[in-house]
Amino acid sequence: MRVLILGAGIAGPTLAYWLQRAGYRPILVESAPQLRQGGHLVDFWGAGFDIAERMDIVERLMHEGYRIQELREVDADGKKITGLDPGRVVDKVGGRYVSIARSDLAAAIYDALDENVETIFGDTIEALDDDGHRVLVEFSHHPPREFDLVVGADGLHSRVRSLAFGPEHQFELPLGITVAALELVGYRRRDDLVAVTHTAVGAQTLRVSLRDDTTLVLFTFRHAGAIPEDISAQHKLLRHRLGHIGGEVPSILDQLAEAKTFYLDRASQIRMPSWSTGRIALVGDAAAAPSLLAGQGAALAMVEAYILATKLRDTDGDHTQAFTAYQHHLDAVIRTKQDAARNLGTAFAPRNRTKLFLRNTALRFMGLPFVADLVMGRSLRDPIELPQW
Ligand SMILES: Cc1cc2nc3c(=O)[nH]c(=O)nc-3n(C[C@H](O)[C@H](O)[C@H](O)COP(=O)(O)OP(=O)(O)OC[C@H]3O[C@@H](n4cnc5c(N)ncnc54)[C@H](O)[C@@H]3O)c2cc1C
Repeated sequence: MRVLILGAGIAGPTLAYWLQRAGYRPILVESAPQLRQGGHLVDFWGAGFDIAERMDIVERLMHEGYRIQELREVDADGKKITGLDPGRVVDKVGGRYVSIARSDLAAAIYDALDENVETIFGDTIEALDDDGHRVLVEFSHHPPREFDLVVGADGLHSRVRSLAFGPEHQFELPLGITVAALELVGYRRRDDLVAVTHTAVGAQTLRVSLRDDTTLVLFTFRHAGAIPEDISAQHKLLRHRLGHIGGEVPSILDQLAEAKTFYLDRASQIRMPSWSTGRIALVGDAAAAPSLLAGQGAALAMVEAYILATKLRDTDGDHTQAFTAYQHHLDAVIRTKQDAARNLGTAFAPRNRTKLFLRNTALRFMGLPFVADLVMGRSLRDPIELPQW
């Protein structure tokens, strides 16, 4: 069966890998001219880690990733408020934990395909016609083609979703928070293997020193308005929203134009009653984005892809049964994670000074080992059952 997978991010290539193993013929189509660069540092553990192990990419992830030694919260003068030791988390999950740049994770997954999957870069779809027997797909640049199944792995603003299910606003729950991730080369402050955060009213800055004199900065800030498409307008939005925050923010904003990579989008959840219709399904953020605030978006995208592939394998090509079983397997777990993340905005971007104070006080308590163990022990349970391959 020929399966068109739109989007070569995290979910798309994971699905292609496992579908191919199940005897399907996946074809990836990605709108960018090559694998997209940039994005945040993914904390990778749990079920996602297990799948990476089954794909034989863990060694590479451990090599290219980081073992952060301290999560350090500082005030506007750079003075430490508190520090957490992520080593305790690493121990709790038996060492099966790595922090890795999103683009390095995506590249490792894609390379696992070993050039066995046809991939078309620089194209997207214009129309989908599911007549019950096959899906006729029209592309922007390539001639139309027929597929047995189509899967949208094309992220938060999925084109497959809008063509097959309806407009984005029907399914999107914006969290009132916007996220920007950028990489700077030669940024002068470096704290190797320390994730430094500074939280002000309405915004948080996270800075991590990476290899090759590169620094990753993640801004999480309150902004519920429209996101401009043009990059210089996005830079302007950042300056407007964050320019008043002290600390390192002004010197980071000064270097925006020279950033090696830049990503900005709103933090939203996607909540859909059904992840499939006829011969068309969704996976990853396209189906059920939990948002950055939930963490684990990349790992969940891999889990969804893996489960979808196992269901298609087990139902021997009965896509209706497979799509139903896929959603049934994951629906409750993902909804729980989404619900938990819905109100986490205060932790990243407290609305006012009182909330900021309460947040920082709670964080100081987290600095106490027994409190950290209690909280982390709870949040590190990943109740997802992965079927054997
Ligand atoms: C460059 C980049 C940086 C990111 N940085 C962050 C971040 O800092 N914080 C955060 O919370 N999340 C970020 N994300 C989203 C994060 O990667 C996802 O939440 C998560 O990994 C789920 O993965 P996914 O495969 O479902 O979606 P994604 O990783 O978003 O992958 C979707 C893929 O589909 C492609 N695509 C999109 N539209 C089309 C189309 N019409 N036709 C063909 N292909 C299409 C995209 O180019 C992308 O390669 C980023 C995504 C990208 C692409």
